[in-house]
Amino acid sequence: MTRGPRQSTSYADKARLVAKAGKNPPAVILVEPQLGENIGTAARAMMNCGLSDLRLVNPQQDWLSEKAVGASSGAGEILEQARKFATVEEAIADLEVIYATTARRREMVKTVMTARNAAADMRARGETGQRLGLLFGRERSGLTNHEIGLANTLVEVPLNPEHSSLNLAQAVLIVGYEWFQAGYDGPEQMMTFNRTKPVTKELLQELFDHLEKELILCGFLRNEEKRPSMIVNIRNMLQRAELTLQEVRTLHGMIVELRYGRRDDRPQRQPGRKADEA
Ligand code: SAH
Repeated sequence: MTRGPRQSTSYADKARLVAKAGKNPPAVILVEPQLGENIGTAARAMMNCGLSDLRLVNPQQDWLSEKAVGASSGAGEILEQARKFATVEEAIADLEVIYATTARRREMVKTVMTARNAAADMRARGETGQRLGLLFGRERSGLTNHEIGLANTLVEVPLNPEHSSLNLAQAVLIVGYEWFQAGYDGPEQMMTFNRTKPVTKELLQELFDHLEKELILCGFLRNEEKRPSMIVNIRNMLQRAELTLQEVRTLHGMIVELRYGRRDDRPQRQPGRKADEA
């Protein structure tokens, strides 16, 4: 394989790769954000969630100020590429479906989705090539009814009804998080093995044999009637530990030393080799 000059992949390109199956991720449109810092932290939240298209409608402060860039904590590229518009209409002109996020119910007939439902809807629409946008309102007063009238759907993050208003960047984060999760297909739980892996069942069986033999010899498994069920319990306990080869070796060593003490002539056991008769 020939190596060309190092290609610098832009964040937007990388974000598209990261957000699996994330065709047409939504643009984030902040309407008259009042504080540069909030624009910075919103950009940070976008980067966390693999979003990259930031649009600012009449921002009240400089989004490239030191404060804003500092608050973005490494998401400066999103701020640099942010586009400024005079009106919401102009900011959404090229988009096809708009979701207006709001902390308050409005006196109007309109579909309200949870952020989770909106995420599934955005994924489905994005897959079919639709261009999407998420509207976020002013810190102090949210979105006007006129602005909401420009959207297809309302999105509300369901929270404590007595205290449901989020900080602007937190709202971007939660809605972005749901969008990201809707395309996440990684494991929900896993063990990190730090360059090792669980031992084979053959080596685990050797450990069981060793341990059970010694437990019979020392009298712990003296009750022959209960022995089979005790053995199953002990095996279950050890199976749950997902032991690595090193851990199995350590346990063999512990059993030997408990039995014989620290003696140079004690029987040697190496997992993987046939065990010596003790
Ligand atoms: N005081 C404003 C809230 C502004 S919070 C009001 O009463 O409307 C800034 C923006 O964050 C909101 O306009 C909205 O876009 C978003 N936001 C805040 N809380 C939200 C929630 N619970 N669900 C959805 N969006 C929310």
